[in-house]
Amino acid sequence: MVIADTDINRFIEIINKNNTFVLTCHTNPDGDALGSTLGLRKALMNMGKEVTIITPDLAPTFYSWMPGYKTLRTYEREQEDCEKIIDAADVIFIMDYNDLKRIKSLGEKLQTLSKPTVMIDHHLDPKMEADVTISFPKASATCELVYNILSQANLEQYIDIDSATNIYTGILTDTGGLSYNSSDPELYIVMANLLRKGIDKPNIHEKVFNNKTVRRLKLLGYTLSRKLKRIEKYPLAIMTLDAKELEQYNYNTGDTEGFVNYPLQVKDIIATAFIMERPDGIKISLRSKGTFPVNEFSARYYGGGGHLNAAGGNYAGTLEEAVKIYTDNIVNFYAEWLKKEAK
Ligand code: 5GP
Ligand code: MN
Repeated sequence: MVIADTDINRFIEIINKNNTFVLTCHTNPDGDALGSTLGLRKALMNMGKEVTIITPDLAPTFYSWMPGYKTLRTYEREQEDCEKIIDAADVIFIMDYNDLKRIKSLGEKLQTLSKPTVMIDHHLDPKMEADVTISFPKASATCELVYNILSQANLEQYIDIDSATNIYTGILTDTGGLSYNSSDPELYIVMANLLRKGIDKPNIHEKVFNNKTVRRLKLLGYTLSRKLKRIEKYPLAIMTLDAKELEQYNYNTGDTEGFVNYPLQVKDIIATAFIMERPDGIKISLRSKGTFPVNEFSARYYGGGGHLNAAGGNYAGTLEEAVKIYTDNIVNFYAEWLKKEAK
């Protein structure tokens, strides 16, 4: 992937001209949101810059091993302090999202600002523009973009082992361990260069994939054995968890991360939903195989979005309604897709 020279030059100019940076990422930050912000933060710090990462809500603690995790500030928890940091910043980075709706109340704050902004993202259909917009839906992860931007800007030497560990982690988590969105040979050159930085690959894999608690495995077991349903006669599945069930398993943020993917292990399931009741509403996660566009389904029925094979949205209503919307519409959406595919 080649990023336009004009964008790289403006990126360099913004870095050179300014000293204080705030990096933001989407709510319920995942490995890529954290990896890209933590990775870029360390590289910018190595250039002598002052950098703060502000996440809209708390980052899952199973990422607490990521270098720099302890420095994360959370807007929802410490709004006043975060606002001071934002007000004092020269530049705001928008990372791993392209829609202010993805950052909850932090979006209202960012909207009031007139500071230079830089967007680095790999989601489809940007709903906002920054002064520098580096948006590559084909990139495996925002982390891959961070590496390529720094490399093209001749700033690769500022990626140290901590920065590389974070960038590597984001690519790993956003591709399901290099299983999807990872067919571009250039990606493996990036991975090779990150390995050259001396990162501890076995340890990262251990931390990313073998990080569960017994409680979390039991919740997974319960979900798969009791809540996984196939929509009869269709290659479609659904799983749900209500507030009571989550409470029974003493749910912590991030406990259900990855659950949505399991039904796709069934050989002929091509799309699946995981719908969960949270205090702030219903969270819908969708996954698919091949060309079945769950991002379109999410946009149409839940006002959400995402990638072709991994999308999500929120629903302000009951769990039952959110489930009904899925079950009533996914079958028709599937028929519509089949027709298009046949053409
Ligand atoms: P997850 O199911 O892991 O929460 O989200 C999968 C992907 O769907 C995310 O990487 C993101 O691109 C997208 N996504 C999830 N929730 C939302 C949402 O509420 N709005 C939009 N536009 N995209 C979402
Ligand atoms: Mn991402």
